[in-house]
Amino acid sequence: MNAVTTSLVDPQGRHFEYLRLSVTEACNYRCVYCLPNGFHSAPSSSRALTVDEIGRLLAGMASLGVWKVRLTGGEPTLRADLTEIVARAASTPGIRKVALSTNGDRLQGLAAPLAAAGLSQVNVSIDHPDSFGFERITGRARLAQVRAGVDSCLEAGLRVKVNVVRLRGVNDDALDGFMRWVRDTPVTVRFIELMQTAGREAFFEAHHVSLDPVRERLLADGWRPIPRASADGPAVEYAHTDFAGGFGLIAPYGPDFCAGCNRLRVTARGGLRLCLFGRGETTLRHLLVPEVQAALVAEHIRAALRGKPAGHHLHENDAGDTAHLAALGG
Ligand code: SAM
Repeated sequence: MNAVTTSLVDPQGRHFEYLRLSVTEACNYRCVYCLPNGFHSAPSSSRALTVDEIGRLLAGMASLGVWKVRLTGGEPTLRADLTEIVARAASTPGIRKVALSTNGDRLQGLAAPLAAAGLSQVNVSIDHPDSFGFERITGRARLAQVRAGVDSCLEAGLRVKVNVVRLRGVNDDALDGFMRWVRDTPVTVRFIELMQTAGREAFFEAHHVSLDPVRERLLADGWRPIPRASADGPAVEYAHTDFAGGFGLIAPYGPDFCAGCNRLRVTARGGLRLCLFGRGETTLRHLLVPEVQAALVAEHIRAALRGKPAGHHLHENDAGDTAHLAALGG
């Protein structure tokens, strides 16, 4: 199934076939650009969606043509039932691809069971190729464990992408280190431009930096952009015949970033979010009960999509009500 066959279409004519589902708001890392003071649960917060609720949500989504699901967070591997969630997602009729976004801390023991449960791709955040830089960004001296987790994923046959948020003065000199790694390791390292979040204006001003120098360096070194399919995400990926791995660039401030939007987001507590940098959400949780048919869940999703904005307003310094991407899964 591709973008043309999904029945979820917004007023701008964009087709939605991809769901990013947060399975927990909790995180065990303290990344400087996301949760620098660590995760603290709000006393009033309700629990995350159960496996059964997730199953019903995915049935509704799949009935609308959504075929790809990414489990994210917070840190999804903090959920003891993650393997069960993956199995439920992978066995939902219509869902053909289940991916995971993780900080990689617990991957070493989880890669094989997750692959056996039906996972096909893992995105691991590694914001620096060196131990010192990694700890400075994440607050955790765990690079060796995370790298071992990546190796376990590759051994388990999982496709691996590595996400790096590029930060001025922090890791904007890290390209060479990543290049040494991908020469023999079949992972795609994707540099992401720092996105502004509500209340973090000073951090953004200090550390936001363009991806242009990375692109220029890659092209100068003989890397070539890979032609993109219509259903591809926002990353432009690059390949080089001398390297086992690759690179990618994700530029949310670039032209046409929103024009290619193909994804919906659901929070850990069942709120449908139409834009990473929007305001408000549509509650779906009350519909994720045995008495409600998938068709009704689908109708609510379809109706909500009519209100999807054409694009974010990051250029006007408006990051919506998103305080950090851990709340939505990035
Ligand atoms: N804990 C998982 C992880 O570490 O990947 C999943 C959640 S994390 C919020 C998802 C992605 O969002 C990560 O790749 C992270 O680097 C990215 N992210 C978080 N805050 C960001 C920001 N302000 N700008 C750009 N990317 C960000």
